[in-house]
This record gives sequence, structure tokens and C-alpha cells, in this order.
Amino acid sequence: MKVTEHIANAKNTVFSFEILPPLKGQNIKQLFENIEPLMEFKPPFIDVTYHREEYIYRDKGNGLLEKRTTRKRPGTVGICAAIKNRFDIDTVPHIICGGFSKEETENALIDLDFLGIDSVLVLRGDPIKSENKFVPDPKGHAYAIELMEQVVNMNKGKYIDEELQSAAPSDFCIGVAGYPEKHFEAPSMKSDLKILKQKVEKGAEYVVTQMFFDNQKYFEFVKLCRAEGIDVPIIPGLKPITSLKQMSALPRTFYLDLPDNLVDELDKCKDNVAAKEVGIEWCIQQSKELIEFGAPCLHYYSMGKSDPIYRIAEGIF
Ligand SMILES: Cc1cc2nc3c(=O)[nH]c(=O)nc-3n(C[C@H](O)[C@H](O)[C@H](O)COP(=O)(O)OP(=O)(O)OC[C@H]3O[C@@H](n4cnc5c(N)ncnc54)[C@H](O)[C@@H]3O)c2cc1C
Repeated sequence: MKVTEHIANAKNTVFSFEILPPLKGQNIKQLFENIEPLMEFKPPFIDVTYHREEYIYRDKGNGLLEKRTTRKRPGTVGICAAIKNRFDIDTVPHIICGGFSKEETENALIDLDFLGIDSVLVLRGDPIKSENKFVPDPKGHAYAIELMEQVVNMNKGKYIDEELQSAAPSDFCIGVAGYPEKHFEAPSMKSDLKILKQKVEKGAEYVVTQMFFDNQKYFEFVKLCRAEGIDVPIIPGLKPITSLKQMSALPRTFYLDLPDNLVDELDKCKDNVAAKEVGIEWCIQQSKELIEFGAPCLHYYSMGKSDPIYRIAEGIF
């Protein structure tokens, strides 16, 4: 079933989470062990992130470095199929513009369609770590909305190869990203919302937000979206803080603010164990308030660790 169908059929707020494919060379066992306990809360779908290539430098032994590209976390399509097979649950792969030609994207979409995967979260992707701005693949897409149009076209049976006759249409439900604290490159919230509105007009059926730690930011974002005419479900993305380091790492990476009350509580923590407790408790309170608000689904960023998500979900779902 599609994400929008799961939401429409649910009587209460739905629980879901996002996982990362294992690093290249690791097996899938640990991932399954991480997912297993969370099945208790009956998530109707699990998101699987997509990771583009990165540059690595290898010492050639003669004092020179060799620059290579490698994809450290391949396997999104395979992981989606494996989870579906193992847990009998829907999976939602993320698809990104970065590092992919239109044809490679089309081939991945064909695989997903054959596997019976019927929802995709369509994103641009971030710049490669060593590049300070996003550089699209020469044969790919520069913005998520262009990639989205490719999926919409495929849903109409229109493939990249225009000579294809009577091509089988796919039937993907399309999700896109939303930023309660604005996307860092957008000049203003208004311009960011204008793009989001265009995505919805062109076929996006739901939005998943970047993580936030102040629910007021989500409430305000939903209000602004509704005023703009964006009327699809807006799923809040949540992540519990699990270490002191994240107090600076999360704002730096995701361009978000931590509320003063949370910072005050974290400042009192002597170690990561204490910080994790504060983070989990904060996320439980956030979750409760979001359910009261009527959020359609709570979507947790697991970042490869399920135990904090388990602790949150057991207090809520
Ligand atoms: C829920 C969620 C899941 C994610 N999962 C992944 C993942 O699996 N893999 C990964 O690599 N990254 C992931 N990301 C990160 C995401 O790729 C980055 O945030 C990226 O910088 C922007 O992606 P986007 O889809 O919002 O881009 P876009 O919609 O393309 O927007 C990027 C910027 O360009 C502007 N813009 C958009 N369209 C246009 C246009 N036509 N003309 C001018 N300006 C425009 C927007 O306002 C914005 O500032 C995820 C983010 C979220 C919120």
C-alpha cells in the first residue's frame, strides 16, 4: 500500500522510521536486528535512505594521493526488497538527483516497480562533502522537482526513451521534503514554500519534514503551508538527541535551532548517557504534543540505532 493509503486508513497517528543501508562490506544481519524490536509498534512503512558517491583519497605509496569515488552505502533498492520480504512491510526508498543520470534513475524506478514498491521519497540530495555546492550529474537533474517530474511521467507511461511505445505506467506515490526551519539554500521561507507548492501541484502527495526540536516550528510550517494551498499530509520528522556532540553537530549539519530549554537540560549533562536520557525524554514530549495536534504520522530518524526509537515508541504507540 502507498504511504497516503496507510495514512488515510489509519485511525490514529501512524508510527514510521527511516533507516540507512549498511556501510559497504557489512552484512544485513545487524540491520534486521535493529529493525526487529520496532516491529512491535506496527510501522506500516519504513524509509530507506539513498546515498550518493563520495570522494576518497588513497595513498599510492609514493607520496602521492589518488582520488577515487566510492558509494559507501549502496544497496537501497536491495535493502527495500529484503525488508519487505523479511517483515512483510512496505518500504519507501529515497531517490536522489545527486550522482545519477536520468537513465540510471529510470532503471532504478523500473526495479522498484517490479518489486511492488509503490511509494518513493523524491529528493535532490546534498552536495558531495568536499564540494561546497550541489553539482548535478551532467545527464541528471538539478532539483528534486525535475526528478519528481520524471517519476510523474513514468506514472503516465512516459519513459526517457521517447520511442518506447505502449510503455507500462508505474504507479508511485510521491513524497517530498519540507523544511520547518527553511532549506538552507532558499533565500526565504516564502520562496521555499513556493517550490513546495509547485511540487504538490505537479504530483507530490505527501511531505516529510526535516527534523526539528521545537514543535512550534512545525505548527507554524503547517499553518504557512495550508495558507499557501499545500493541502497534502505533512509528516513530522523527529530525531532524539543521543550525545553531547550532537548539540553542535545537528545545527551545523541540518541548519536547525535547538530550543533554549533543551540546551539548558543538555548543558547539565555530564556525559552522553545523561544526554541520551534528556534527548529521549524531549522526543517523547514532542511526540505526545504532535499526536495531540493531529500529525498524520510520526517519522523517526533512526540513524542506524533503534534502541532510542524503541524507548520513545513504547511510551507513545
Ligand atoms: C525527509 C528527508 C529525507 C532525506 N533523505 C535523504 C537521502 O536519503 N539521501 C540524501 O542524499 N539526502 C537526503 N535528504 C537531504 C536532502 O537531499 C537535502 O536537504 C537537499 O539539500 C535538498 O533536497 P530537496 O529535495 O529539498 O531539494 P530541492 O527541492 O531541489 O531544493 C533544494 C533548494 O533549491 C531550491 N529550489 C528547488 N527547486 C528550485 C527551482 N526549480 N529553482 C530554483 N530553486 C529551487 C529550494 O528552495 C531549496 O533551497 C533528506 C532530507 C529530508 C528532509
